[in-house]
Amino acid sequence: MKQTLCTISSNDEVMPGIHLMWIESPDIAATAQPGQFITVRCGDFTLRRPFSVHQVSSREIALLFRVAGKGTIWLAQRKAGEKMDVLGPLGKGFTVGPESKNLLLVAGGIGIAPLVFLMHHASAQHQITLIHGASTAAQLYPNGCLLADGSDGAIQFIPVTEDGSRGKRGMITDILPDFLDWADQIYACGPVAMYKAMVLTLNPSPLKGEVKGESEKQNNLKMKKCQVSLEVRMGCGFGACYGCTINTNEGLKQVCRDGPVFELDDIIWREVRI
Ligand SMILES: Cc1cc2nc3c(=O)[nH]c(=O)nc-3n(C[C@H](O)[C@H](O)[C@H](O)COP(=O)(O)OP(=O)(O)OC[C@H]3O[C@@H](n4cnc5c(N)ncnc54)[C@H](O)[C@@H]3O)c2cc1C
Repeated sequence: MKQTLCTISSNDEVMPGIHLMWIESPDIAATAQPGQFITVRCGDFTLRRPFSVHQVSSREIALLFRVAGKGTIWLAQRKAGEKMDVLGPLGKGFTVGPESKNLLLVAGGIGIAPLVFLMHHASAQHQITLIHGASTAAQLYPNGCLLADGSDGAIQFIPVTEDGSRGKRGMITDILPDFLDWADQIYACGPVAMYKAMVLTLNPSPLKGEVKGESEKQNNLKMKKCQVSLEVRMGCGFGACYGCTINTNEGLKQVCRDGPVFELDDIIWREVRI
């Protein structure tokens, strides 16, 4: 973890209300792992704002951020050449098991941000399906930002929109079951409502197993594992203030230091507040 004054290389609105910002930061670019985040001092605000590392190049990192309030309005107005106070990389990121071949990435809205880094990191050795859900086509990750529509080498991109303006119509969880047998590991980033729906989708009812036979029944009764990145409100971002503490099946955890990546089924969802 290092605090640096970094130069902004570019800051473009790539979707309505969503910015892609590249920052010169060779140290963070060299050490960040997918799922880790940085914090940015936004103007005069005391609390630094956390953002996932979205992409890395040899000397730069990229953030993909939604303009949500005062801090991100300030960030959206920054110009190339300006300096910004950045701290990172922070937290514990995603882990990919050595035996896994097929990775399913599930992104709800701006939750695509950390999953693109994971996709780049893993695509040389893994087959990847990335499902991106948004309310409408304009809020989907733009093709020009990396992804081809449909199959591209080891990466398959599946858009889902609530209004059906592009890709499948509906919610991510409507099509998730189609990929569960294929996936060796599942990774997700999105709103808490999406995670709560995923808990139900990934936790098959005992009835499914009874139809298929005993050994499958035992498999089905185990909830499919999924790593999720949790974007709760944070204070310090590095474990000093306990402002982001959540309750898990393993006891109290700090999202900034123990996470932001957790196992979906370790989190006690009814107690999570953004
Ligand atoms: C580990 C982590 C990684 C994140 N990565 C990204 C990212 O890659 N891209 C991105 O756009 N956002 C990301 N966020 C959310 C981002 O930090 C907030 O949107 C941002 O701090 C809002 O600051 P603000 O001053 O603009 O808004 P505020 O004025 O503080 O709040 C405006 C609105 O945003 C909501 N909000 C504030 N903080 C959060 C939060 N932490 N999570 C969700 N909603 C929040 C508030 O409830 C409120 O409705 C991440 C959050 C965490 C904890």
